[in-house]
Parts: sequence; C-alpha cells; structure tokens
Amino acid sequence: MKLEDKPRDHFRILPNTERSLKKISVETIEDLLYHFPRSYGDVAETVSIASLKKGDTAVVFGQISNLKISKAFRKRIAMAEATLEDDSGRIKIVWFHQPYLAKILHDGANVRVEGKVAERKESLYLSNPKIADAPNLFSSGSSTLYPIYPETRGITSNWIFHKIQNIFNSKILDEIKDPIPEEILRKYSLPSLRTALIYIHTPKNKDDAEKARKRFAFEEIFFIQLDRQKLRHKLREEKSFVIDKSSKDIEDFENRFPFKPTNAQRRAISQALKDLNKDQPMSRLLEGDVGSGKTAVAATLAYAVATSKPKGQTFGTLQTAIMAPTEILAKQHFESFIKLFNHLPINIALITGSGARKFPSKTNPDTWTDISRKQLQKWVENGEIAIIIGTHALIQKSVKFKHLAFVVIDEQHRFGTAQRQKLVTKEDVVPHLLSMTATPIPRTLALTLYGDLDLTLLDEMPAGRKEIKTEVIPPNKRQETYKKIREEIEKGRQVYVICPRIDEPDPSKELAILAKSVKEEAKRLKRDVFQEYKIEILHSKMKPVEKEKIMLSFQKGETDILVSTSVVEVGVNVENASVIVIEGAERFGLAQLHQLRGRVLRGTHQPYCYIFTETNSKITSDRLRALSTAKNGFELAEFDLAQRGMGELSGVKQWGVGDLGMEAIRNIKMVEAARTEAMKLIEKDKNLEKYPLLKKYLEKTSKKIHFE
Ligand code: ADP
Ligand code: MG
Repeated sequence: MKLEDKPRDHFRILPNTERSLKKISVETIEDLLYHFPRSYGDVAETVSIASLKKGDTAVVFGQISNLKISKAFRKRIAMAEATLEDDSGRIKIVWFHQPYLAKILHDGANVRVEGKVAERKESLYLSNPKIADAPNLFSSGSSTLYPIYPETRGITSNWIFHKIQNIFNSKILDEIKDPIPEEILRKYSLPSLRTALIYIHTPKNKDDAEKARKRFAFEEIFFIQLDRQKLRHKLREEKSFVIDKSSKDIEDFENRFPFKPTNAQRRAISQALKDLNKDQPMSRLLEGDVGSGKTAVAATLAYAVATSKPKGQTFGTLQTAIMAPTEILAKQHFESFIKLFNHLPINIALITGSGARKFPSKTNPDTWTDISRKQLQKWVENGEIAIIIGTHALIQKSVKFKHLAFVVIDEQHRFGTAQRQKLVTKEDVVPHLLSMTATPIPRTLALTLYGDLDLTLLDEMPAGRKEIKTEVIPPNKRQETYKKIREEIEKGRQVYVICPRIDEPDPSKELAILAKSVKEEAKRLKRDVFQEYKIEILHSKMKPVEKEKIMLSFQKGETDILVSTSVVEVGVNVENASVIVIEGAERFGLAQLHQLRGRVLRGTHQPYCYIFTETNSKITSDRLRALSTAKNGFELAEFDLAQRGMGELSGVKQWGVGDLGMEAIRNIKMVEAARTEAMKLIEKDKNLEKYPLLKKYLEKTSKKIHFE
C-alpha cells in the first residue's frame, strides 16, 4: 500500500461509496488518513439496557434483531421497529416516519444507539434514536475511546474506522515522513506526523487526541503561512512603476473633496504613496469599518498614478484597475470617481457583466456614454483609459492593459488569493496592489490569511458622523418599534429591512422555518404594517438589470422601504436611508450585523438600527447587546470568535481554512509561532530546496488554499 494509492486499489468499494468519497475530497489513501474524527465516543460512558429508565437519554450498544416495518399504534403512521439486545437485556426500538431504516439496517448488526427512552403499556422502548454501526473496538484493550467521523450518505463512521485500521495494519505508517522540520516540532512539543495520525484516529485518552489535533492545526496554519510568505518574498523581487508625486499635487486633489479627509485617511494615503514610490510592488491591505472612507484613499492614489508617466517617458498613461465584487458597487465607484476626476483630462471606464461605459462622453463631456466591450478593450489596450473600474469582467483574459501600474481590490474578502494574484501578475511589470476590506476579522485571522500583505487600519470615522442608535427588539416590542419607524418615514427617511432568506423556506426543513424571507416579509409589511408606503425587494437571485432598477429607485427616494437579503451588505450608498431593521438577527454573526448596520451611516440624519429577534433568550440578547457597546467592528469580530467560534464570522467558507485551522485561529500563540517559523524558513530558503518534502506538501495544499 502507498499513500498515493486510490482506496479502490485496496478495498472493495461500491460505485456509490466511490462517489461519496469524492464528495468529501477523499481520493487517495493519504486523504483518508487526513479524514479526521469529528469527536470521540467513550464506551465507558454507555449504559446497559437493563438499567434504562423512562425519560433517560442514553447511549447503548447491542445487537439488532426482529427488524420490521409496521404501522403505528393508533394513527396509521409508517414506522420501523426492531429489538436491541446486550448482555443485560433487551429493549424495543421504534422509528416513526422512518420505515426505510428497516431496509438499511439488518438483523444481527452490532450498533450504537443513542436516544430517548419512552414507555407505552408498561414496556420501555427507544423512540426515534440515532443509530450507527458500533465500532468493533471492544477487543482493543486499554482504550475505551472510539472515533466518530463526519458521515456522508454512503459512508458511515464505522466504515471509515475499519479502513483506517486496515491502513494502519499495512505498515504504511512506518514509511510516512514528516514534512514539518523536526526542530520546529520539538520547539513547540508537537507530535510527529506518524504519532499524530495514530493519536487522532485511535487515541488512548483525550490528551493524546488533543495533542494530535494541535499538531494538525499547527500544520494547517503553518502551510498557509508558508504559502503567503513565499508570495511576499516573490513579490519583493518583482519590478513595478515608480510613482513620484509632490505632496502639493496630492493636497490640491484632496482639497476638491466635498469634505476634509480624516487623519486616518491622510495617514493611509501617505503610507501608500511611500510604497508607490518604490520600484517594488506595493502589497497593502486597507482595513476600515464601513463608511470610514476607503474610496477616497483609493481615488487619491489612482490620481497619483494617472498623472504620472511610465519610467523614462514624457508621454503615455499609467493605468489603474479597480475591481469590485458586485455590479452595483462597481457602478457606484464609477459615479464617485467621475465626481472626483471631472476637472481633469482623465478617461475613466466601467466594465461589468452587462456592458461597458466611458467617461467623458465625446458628445457630452459632463457625462458618460455606453460603449461596446470591444471599444473598451481597444482603449484600455492602447492606454487611452487611465482608470478602469469593473467586476470580475476585469480579470477576463480579453482585457489587456498598456501600462497597468496600480490595482485596487474592493471588499477583498470576496475574492480569493488566486484572483488577487491573477490581476496582479498579468503584466511583466507587476502593478502595485491595494486591497480594501470592511470585514472586521480578528487579528489572528488577518495575520494568517493576509500574511503576504502590509496592513493599514482606517480606524477613524469622518467627523460629524452620528452614532447609530442600536436596539435589540424582542417579539413583544415589535409594534411600538414599527411606530417609531413610521415617524422616520413621515420625516422623509427611508428604511432597509434585512431578512435572512429570499424565498419562503421549504417546510420540510425543520430548521429553516423560523427564518423570515424577503418575499414574504415584504408582503406582510405591505399588508399589515406599512400599507401606505412603497415597498420593494432586492436579493441576489434577481437579474442585474432588475437589481439596478430597484437600487436606482431607492436611491432616488421613490421607494420608502427596501426589503433585502444581506446583498446590500456590500458598499451600497443611499444617504437618505436612516433606518435599518434586521430580521432573524440570531442568524448573523456580530461582525456581519455590524457591517449591515453600516448601511445607514452614510447620511446626515440620525441613524437607527433595530435588531429583531424571534427569541426572548437571554443569551441571544446579551450577545446582540454587544453591538451597542463595542467600539468598532474589529472588537465585535474578536467577540464573535471568543463566543461562538469561527463559523460565525461572515464569509468563513470562502477562506479555504479547514476546521482544525479555524480552531488554531483562536490561539494567538500558535498563529504567531506558525508565522514566525514560516518567515524564518522562507527567508533562509525561499524555494524550500533543502526541504523537498515540505515543498511537495506545500504545492499540494497551496492548491487547496487558493480554491483551484
Ligand atoms: P467605505 O470605507 O465604506 O468604502 P466610502 O469610501 O464609501 O466608505 O465613504 C462613505 C461616505 O463617506 C461617502 O459618501 C464619502 O463621500 C464620505 N466620506 C469619505 N471620507 C469622508 C470624510 N473624511 N469626511 C466626510 N465624509 C467622508
Ligand atoms: Mg467601500
């Protein structure tokens, strides 16, 4: 057996199982070894059947017999029945509504059953228990722990357990070499790969399992760090255009802003200008809460670039590409840039999935005009357009630049590192990069994911901004809150209502039922609450033209209430909207709620955020109350992390970090250790020539990290 063999080379595997394996990304024996238990059960904690009492919730092991399908006692409900037996006695099992179970299970099977003990006609039975194959562990001696693997259709935990046993028995472990250098393992007291694999799949005690998890968590973060440090190192060897601007020029540009830049904005601009002044590409992340004014920073830098010349030339235009994650946002940037640049002889273009535009129009220099994509490509390629703003359409191959000197990526968490790289490495001369994000993420995560970037924080809000009055509203306070909202609409303000879903939930999905949907909520509000006002809906499944129409009418103030999913989360700017209602708030992470409410921070009116919850639970309202006390989004992100773990941070799935890695993110010491070691290693040996195994592993995981 070899690590790179396919499971089917050694085990009899049905086509169904093969497909399921693929679904959980298990293609080789090695992948199977890296399929870790979700948790561990303890045989010692199980009870004997004879000791069961009515009302207990218990785990019992036993053998199945008398499987059959029948109809329930009085009502005609289909159900499966069986008898479970252990050394101490027997008990009946009943599964209402799940007759198919009788077909999946078979008499004689050894199973682990977990469920509630009920009673009828003075005899006890287990009602709708969870059932799984029992691991065949009882003989294995000292340990009472058994692994519980994440299951998918067609692959039981027990199946995996048996395969792992087979793999262990094949002696393959003796051949496994550890990619992580030994001195690093020793320094942080981490078990070797071989030991860790044994510990994680067949721990003698919880401590062993914990040590193994720690090692694999470190491994994951370490590989991400290596990947990022490599990128960083590589970039430092590239050449880029030198942008040399006098501070007088920059001041003149800033003085035309309709506002006075904050100190944080000034700092960010001068820090980035220093980077742009070097012939190595800048690689900087600008992190700032919603409304902190990132666009103005990007625009000023774009100005510096657009008014500079290619090296050694007195002619030609250096170009800036600005990529936004949605069409709405790209258009908004286009409009803002036109306002900031219309006094200058600078051409600006927009490209999205639905077409292209150019400013100024030949016929009317005060405005833009629609152009064909071909025309746009031509003008970008010959360098006539200095600033091009767009969505993903920008990274398509057909858009070529003459002198791309600067790339801005807005709301950068929406883009993978690979996309980031694609834009940046298209040219011989590598453009400077400014990534912008409002996603408040904990420091540990930023250090890990953005290890290749320098960080600038925009930690100051423009002066005169009102504080959002945020209130958590339990069900019994709804009516009086609607009254307050009505008063705002009467004053001419507009309202966002955010719902967690687009459509009515599928009633068969039990958990989905509580979440309000955009469509139903809009209907309900119109019918029962705000009859006299104009209500529109917005969600991600609408066509771009429809979305734009809805947004435009909201922007113009024709719509009073916009009921939407969290698509409005990203950068939409309507100054007159001063109230935001968030339905089903318990479904969002705090950091995400914070971003959502940022929508109403744009204007001069007192903004309100009403967080509607469906529960009266104290835990939920305590958690949500942090929104009124935390100073900024970063604090909330840390709070989310501490309280509920990484899953609650928005967009977490897109980051390509596994569950174990996410666990590690909670541990600043581990993250710093992984980062330090990765930096040292790359500094010493940038291509990892002396660490061929590590290099091989890294190549493999880099693909995963970059979602390729
Ligand atoms: P974000 O950081 O969320 O992208 P924007 O750049 O869209 O924020 O700015 C939000 C709003 O604040 C815009 O209307 C912008 O014109 C305005 N703004 C930006 N900087 C300042 C400032 N220094 N003073 C006042 N308003 C500002
Ligand atoms: Mg923005």
